[in-house]
Amino acid sequence: MKKTIAIAATLSALGSPVAAEGIIISENSSRKSMLASKEQFTGTVFVEPMFDANEQNGHSTGLVTFTPGARTAWHSHPRGQLLIITEGAGWVQEDGAEKRNVKAGDVVWFAPGIRHWHGATDTTLMRHIALSYMENGTNVAWSDQVTDEQFLD
Ligand code: MN
Repeated sequence: MKKTIAIAATLSALGSPVAAEGIIISENSSRKSMLASKEQFTGTVFVEPMFDANEQNGHSTGLVTFTPGARTAWHSHPRGQLLIITEGAGWVQEDGAEKRNVKAGDVVWFAPGIRHWHGATDTTLMRHIALSYMENGTNVAWSDQVTDEQFLD
């Protein structure tokens, strides 16, 4: 017991290494879902920004819901992107490779700079949390839309 108290006192004396707020809570009720832009997505897609990027975490965090048939345009991420599939089933594809199936519970890493898309399947919804890593104030470079032919290939 004494040992525990001594350690706690030592940690307290060291203080926090950062001046920023120690704990930040993004309350569910404070966030708004929005329809994703038709310039960067095909079909009906809802985007909910969950947590902004900052100097400590280095990435934005967003919840994205793709209704059946919906997908991103082709794009890449300068520092990569991690997707945590939270619901449903969908497809992901790297340019030049086969389309791949993903489902709830899968976690997907896209390496920096690779051209890819992600979305629902033609018949199922897919929802993911996206951690998009920042470089010089941006985390994505958009390209052309994924055609129906590419999507269904
Ligand atoms: Mn991506």
